[in-house]
Amino acid sequence: MKTDVLIVGAGPAGSACAYELSKRGVGNILIERKAKPGTPVQCAEFIPVNINQYIDLTDKPEAVCQNVEYMEVDTEKENYKFDGRGYILNREIFDYYIAMLAAGKGTELITNTFAQTVIENENKLIARDKISNNIIEINYKYLVIAAGAKNFIDFSAQKRNARYICNEVYIHGIQIKTKLLKRLNSAMIYFRNYIPYGYGWVFPKLDFANVGIGIEQNSHNDINLRQSFALFLSEMKQKGIIGGEVISKTSGLIPISALNETVCGNIAYCGDAAGLTHPITGAGNLSAVISGTLLGEFIYESLKTGSNLLADYKEELFSIFHKPLLKAKTKRNNFYIKKYEQLSPEELDNIVRQSWPSFAGYHAI
Ligand SMILES: Cc1cc2nc3c(=O)[nH]c(=O)nc-3n(C[C@H](O)[C@H](O)[C@H](O)COP(=O)(O)OP(=O)(O)OC[C@H]3O[C@@H](n4cnc5c(N)ncnc54)[C@H](O)[C@@H]3O)c2cc1C
Repeated sequence: MKTDVLIVGAGPAGSACAYELSKRGVGNILIERKAKPGTPVQCAEFIPVNINQYIDLTDKPEAVCQNVEYMEVDTEKENYKFDGRGYILNREIFDYYIAMLAAGKGTELITNTFAQTVIENENKLIARDKISNNIIEINYKYLVIAAGAKNFIDFSAQKRNARYICNEVYIHGIQIKTKLLKRLNSAMIYFRNYIPYGYGWVFPKLDFANVGIGIEQNSHNDINLRQSFALFLSEMKQKGIIGGEVISKTSGLIPISALNETVCGNIAYCGDAAGLTHPITGAGNLSAVISGTLLGEFIYESLKTGSNLLADYKEELFSIFHKPLLKAKTKRNNFYIKKYEQLSPEELDNIVRQSWPSFAGYHAI
């Protein structure tokens, strides 16, 4: 097979890129290892209202489960309320919707297909059909890696390069969907000393909620993720926020190493694969859509002008994301001041007020 642009990964980043290209008449193939883009969901599903500047969700109301007006940050010592307008998505619908927008404009979406190896000097990707086990070879002019937090794609030996391994540090997230005892109109964030270098969340979905924790696995930290999660669930039950029933479970990695190398020759990264998740909040849905859209624009211009403009994509991405991501990465250092489980509620409260973006202290130099 042959295409102008080959995109690996039909998450929000890859599908947004495909959509942008197809809208502009550029031929592209989008390959996805899952049977259906968006399923299963590995996300707490919050997205700020600004998403509508890129993908108008009023055209697809089913993609939104509920609106949230506030974000509440609970440090155990105090409970702070911030304006945090956004949506709790139905991500399986959201992801599928963007992929279908792209397909509707001409993207060739190939599901159940795993991108295995890139042979760069031949501009070729080797993929495997997961159903038949057949090998598919696709030649491209530009290759987009939108494969999410952890990239398992093998690059050919000649050019294997550390630059391709974008994300090095992760928060490990674990989440259940369960019943809420009372509906909420805020996204709830919990900092506890038993959730080290991360936080817990309760994100409401009408009568249900995504309830999870994320913990950075690092040398400071020997706390067991599942034990911490059990403590968190027990606290949420004791507080009368959730019931006991587990409707579904998920887990996943959230990269926190921040923006990395994003372009090499005619290969470019976007979304989590480019390290665009916020190192403190772990938010990456909006930046995935922004970066995918941007990359689509630059590849279109490159093909139109006949000159590779990916260096300009890299510069633009840098100008949007570098400062905030670097700041958040630096702010993470506040977390390591003392062994986390030994923090008093006052110390933890102080750290949160310096580290979480909604607080004025976060923005102090
Ligand atoms: C537990 C958890 C909770 C989160 N909560 C939030 C939240 O509330 N709000 C928020 O903004 N962000 C959240 N995030 C982060 C958010 O999910 C990501 O930032 C977002 O999904 C990034 O989109 P993406 O398109 O870059 O990657 P992904 O959504 O990961 O999409 C990548 C796609 O590539 C496919 N793929 C991977 N490898 C291959 C391959 N070799 N071949 C073919 N296909 C491949 C995958 O199947 C996947 O469909 C959370 C993450 C986790 C783990």
